[in-house]
Amino acid sequence: MFEIGNGIEVYYENKKEIRNIVFFPENTYKYYDTGGMLFEVITDEATFLITTKLETMIHDYPGYADPLTIESVTDGFKWLYGTVQDEERPVVTELFRSGFTEVIKSVLTQCEHEDNVSFENIGAFMERCYTEYFDNLKAFSAFFDALAADASGTADDFQQDVANTFKRSTEDFYTLYKRKCNVRKGNGNVSVETHQITNYLQLLVFEYYRLKKEGKAVKICANCGRYFIPKNRSDSIYCDAPAPQNPTRTCKEIGSQVKRAEERHNNPGVREHHNKMSSLRMAKKRAKDKGDDDLLSGYERLLRAELKRFEKTLTDNTQVNSEEEK
Ligand SMILES: [Zn+2]
Repeated sequence: MFEIGNGIEVYYENKKEIRNIVFFPENTYKYYDTGGMLFEVITDEATFLITTKLETMIHDYPGYADPLTIESVTDGFKWLYGTVQDEERPVVTELFRSGFTEVIKSVLTQCEHEDNVSFENIGAFMERCYTEYFDNLKAFSAFFDALAADASGTADDFQQDVANTFKRSTEDFYTLYKRKCNVRKGNGNVSVETHQITNYLQLLVFEYYRLKKEGKAVKICANCGRYFIPKNRSDSIYCDAPAPQNPTRTCKEIGSQVKRAEERHNNPGVREHHNKMSSLRMAKKRAKDKGDDDLLSGYERLLRAELKRFEKTLTDNTQVNSEEEK
């Protein structure tokens, strides 16, 4: 039949800061950090390639109206193979090939076993394959997003269900993926194995458990909303990318500042306190610059009083809350 995409083969070692070696057909390979393959797949460029462009290439296929035969499927798929590829995104390209091959096989099997499944031409067949392929991609995105929200502590009920389903149904893979790829045997020989991955969902399972093995996870940045993997502290909630509010600083640098500003904005009491403190500090500075010691100590007293007043409102509020809880 047609050429079958075998996907990629991944080799890793269980050492810190060691990258995966990803082998592609035609004996090429590339290094990826743990989670790095996922980040290649979720870029806008990759999404465009495997959705919009793929769909367009199916519509534009010169043999669209040919009747459905094994030869026309082979030709149609070769066309897609050649047009939906990106040399800078080899994981995306290879997993498209093997993943789409799996879908073609699945739809062909449906044709054989179900009487009401038949196609007017190869174009209609390819479109049906695309629909199934797109459903797989949607499942991948839903799981990916739910797991990231879960790791960030921001999952809603739906995302929590999706994340739990993923973890429940794939937990056996943790045993598989935390095992070393090279094993020294009793007789001193070393056996080396690689892990084959043929579609995006398998990739997610692989990366999720390899990240887990390293004590890491994909999270959603609390400032910009982008996905990221915290490098040092796994409990970090902000990413290291330029912040949308100020591209010369990272989200990590300004995240908590922005959050405090938002809290002020949302809470009239906190905002009032902040404004009062700011104007008193400014007045105090002016008094200091002028060398007016009486005025300076006066403002210092007012600042202390304001701080005390605000602390008291906080304490009062907490007491009210804890009484409500009883
Ligand atoms: Zn961010």
